[in-house]
Amino acid sequence: MSARESHPARFFFSMTARVYVEEGRPIILFMSSREERLARNEAMSREINERLEDANKGQLSDRYLRLVCECGRDFCDRVVAITAAEYEEIRSDPVQFVVVRDHLIPDVERVVVETDRFLIVAKREGTPAGVAVEEDPRS
Ligand SMILES: [Zn+2]
Repeated sequence: MSARESHPARFFFSMTARVYVEEGRPIILFMSSREERLARNEAMSREINERLEDANKGQLSDRYLRLVCECGRDFCDRVVAITAAEYEEIRSDPVQFVVVRDHLIPDVERVVVETDRFLIVAKREGTPAGVAVEEDPRS
């Protein structure tokens, strides 16, 4: 009945999971959670922003810096207009990030401050740091 029953064993690799498929049955070898991936992306954009801010230090007092959105999406290329003072304020709390207005991810963060240029968001308490599922493949 099943057209899939004769599938050979295959491996799939992706950013988030490694799946071994044996006779149509997926065996998850490793999976990092969506939250973990978001957190990695956020950390990366935060590092970019630190450097952008550093490069402009002392020159711009109330002019806007153009910093990258820290939403954590894989392919976000949006830019936030923000002053150095505003960014310092955000960075005074390590769970806070700056994102463009429509890049809020409500299930992992909440809005702390809303402006017409950006949102300041904070990570929700209790967000799982990561989920790892391991299963021994038959070998
Ligand atoms: Zn974004």
